[in-house]
Amino acid sequence: MRLSDLTPHITLTLGLLAIGPTQAQDQHAHVHGLAQLNLAVEGNAVSMELTATAYDLVGFERAPRDDAERARIADARRSLLDHATLWQFNAAAGCVAEAPVLAVPGAGNHDHDHDHDGHDHEGHSDWQASYRFQCQNPAALRAIDVGAFKRFPSLETIDVQLLTANGATAVTVLSANPRITLAP
Ligand SMILES: [Zn+2]
Repeated sequence: MRLSDLTPHITLTLGLLAIGPTQAQDQHAHVHGLAQLNLAVEGNAVSMELTATAYDLVGFERAPRDDAERARIADARRSLLDHATLWQFNAAAGCVAEAPVLAVPGAGNHDHDHDHDGHDHEGHSDWQASYRFQCQNPAALRAIDVGAFKRFPSLETIDVQLLTANGATAVTVLSANPRITLAP
């Protein structure tokens, strides 16, 4: 039991190294409607890192201006942390989530939006969410159904960088067919 407890952590670290954040960010283009997902399957562990534009998640990319906009940000946060809705593994794999981590630049305690002249000088912004799952039966992993398109209708495409024991592949998932296929 001790070995099987340790293995996911060791292999997950290797997986993250292989898709290091610097390299991934360099490849990211900020395009509305398009999100990026780094997805690594290593042993029992599945890790995901989603990068999406604030435009697709909340509809704007600046500090919130009123309660309605603050509520939209809070809703998006809740939805991104709701891993069971966003990522639905085929049941036989027995995947259980660890607590997801969400990074929301500039959305919370915003501090440089006081002297405003109506000009949105902050430009574009991306949100990132990270997820980790432990799967009892990773050999049974077949597919992940993506609920993110329904929750965030502005989102049309997710470019997936998939890293498994078989190597690295790039997959494009469209809202019309919201499924990441991991094995035939
Ligand atoms: Zn933008």
